Amino acid sequence: MIEKILRPYCLYCGGDSAYNEMICPDCVQGLPRFEHFCKGCGHPTSVDTAHCKHCDDKLKGIDFYYTDYIYIDAVKAMIHEIKFNWRWRGASQLSQLLVASGVDFASYDRVVPIPYHILRRFVRYRQPVELLMKGILSITPDIAHDRALYRIKNTVYQARLSRRQRIKNVKNIFALKGGVSGERILLVDDILTTGATVSEAAKVLKRAGAAKVDLYTFAAGMVR
Ligand SMILES: [Zn+2]
Ligand SMILES: [Zn+2]
Repeated sequence: MIEKILRPYCLYCGGDSAYNEMICPDCVQGLPRFEHFCKGCGHPTSVDTAHCKHCDDKLKGIDFYYTDYIYIDAVKAMIHEIKFNWRWRGASQLSQLLVASGVDFASYDRVVPIPYHILRRFVRYRQPVELLMKGILSITPDIAHDRALYRIKNTVYQARLSRRQRIKNVKNIFALKGGVSGERILLVDDILTTGATVSEAAKVLKRAGAAKVDLYTFAAGMVR
């Protein structure tokens, strides 16, 4: 019994894992990944394509989108454990997985995390997006990464709202600190939930003169 408690185990399959891992190497190998993408906007799709329905709709204001993992199974378990169970042991594995994503982070002038709910700010260091930022900074230590965007308004959870309500709900929720004129910016978030929040963020940055706003999320919902 004691042995079971002390031995580090994989969050997903329960097998052996190292102290600095949430999931074991086997589960890392089997992480559900997107395989097909739209060349036009980067959004995951069911087949490789040059144009998709997201190109001019869902992620308005985002020039190109990068994502790696499907938010199911072990991916969901990891994010959930950090976010809601405040798990810390091995959470840096998220940073390592991001490093393997192949996004050319050095091609940006600035990385900007999507700011979360003001009421969640006190648990900032346990937010998955902070771990992703850490991963990016381990690759590009000199990239500008201060909190250019911040929330000025709390919002109700987007998942409960209709599409039209979502867009209204996020209107004017962000404000900008400092200038971003002419900059190539990468927005970063853990999961793509609704396009409305990231579109609003992109809008604020573009209004301030950003030359390009791309988005990276660690995971996204299954392609439908
Ligand atoms: Zn495992
Ligand atoms: Zn597309």
